[in-house]
Amino acid sequence: MPAPTFQNLDLASDAPALNLRTPGPTPVPPAVRAALARDMLNHRGPEFAAVMSDCAEGLKWAFQTQHDVLVLTASGTGGLESVVANLLSPGQRVLVVTIGYFGDRFARIARAYGADVQELAVEWGRAADPAEVAARLEADPRIDTVFVTHNETSTGVMNPLAEITRAIRAVRPEALIAVDGISSVGSVPILPDAWGCDVVVAGSQKGWMVPPGLVFVAVSPRAWERQARASLPRFYFDWAAHKQDLDKHTTPWTPAVGILFGLQAALRLMRAEGLDAIFARHEQLARTTRARLADLGLRLFADPAHASWTVTTALPPDGIDARALIRAVRERHHVVLAGGQGAYEHRMIRVGHLGFVSQADLDGAFEALRAELPVPATTAAR
Ligand SMILES: *Cc1c(COP(=O)(O)O)cnc(C)c1O
Repeated sequence: MPAPTFQNLDLASDAPALNLRTPGPTPVPPAVRAALARDMLNHRGPEFAAVMSDCAEGLKWAFQTQHDVLVLTASGTGGLESVVANLLSPGQRVLVVTIGYFGDRFARIARAYGADVQELAVEWGRAADPAEVAARLEADPRIDTVFVTHNETSTGVMNPLAEITRAIRAVRPEALIAVDGISSVGSVPILPDAWGCDVVVAGSQKGWMVPPGLVFVAVSPRAWERQARASLPRFYFDWAAHKQDLDKHTTPWTPAVGILFGLQAALRLMRAEGLDAIFARHEQLARTTRARLADLGLRLFADPAHASWTVTTALPPDGIDARALIRAVRERHHVVLAGGQGAYEHRMIRVGHLGFVSQADLDGAFEALRAELPVPATTAAR
């Protein structure tokens, strides 16, 4: 019997190119793919230190922060878990402002670690109201920690984060504010220092043009003080261990070295484009996506005043199953959309437009949807 060869396992080689329009993972540009192909380095050696140092500097630039930005090897959820494990003590009360599936997950992680979780749950499709957040703090003097999502990827809603943090600080100036910015940082303006965000988490597979595997966590001086006192158990995600090694341009445990090569290349592309241009591109693509989906007869799901710049959510016309539509555009047009989450699993489509994405990529997705959807009544009548 012939020995199996690894070539036999190259299942993707015959697959047609896909237009990946999920809100993570996102497409990876050629320069990043080339960097990912580099051979391994010793993560305790000088060559790796140069990569790490370059990435650390680039991350601070992209986060627009003077805070420490830690690099953990995990998916976004691992970054959120690190927030819980590093900031809280057993039974500590925390207010989780949740506007969807990922806000709920932040609350579930805190509960799993034994925190006393108070939830401010907002109807899906809407943003949190800063006044309501402030009212919850006023009513409960024991809350000294608030978790909030910046961009809720399940509903396509972007919270007015600056207004929310300002409202929190007005009631409880010393509160610790931790932000899930996994699908916003690097694509959408966020100013952690000026807005008083003590912790901001971002994930490599969202707006960074890099595969999954790394999560970035910005930690303010106030968060470090809390971290030193917090007593939940932590080991792999112990921020202090990561900070100590970050200062030496390495990590306490073996990192996803290959993904860091990709990140270094991606940050170079981001610097060449410039943050303002990146943000403007995302805003513009979000605007055209909303307009085109509405033209196709889909019902936009997010409150238009708070529609996300990185993902657009929509409900297909009555009688059309979202999952069947997603299957049709994938199988017949090689366009990969995301479905809904939670209660919207069968009812929603989500179009990702973050990271390495242009108008032409989105046009391909709209064409595919147009081919698979009935002609809207308004257009047909014209
Ligand atoms: C993707 C995402 C997560 C979860 O990240 P994983 O990498 O899947 O663990 C959490 N929060 C938000 C807002 C996200 O978009």
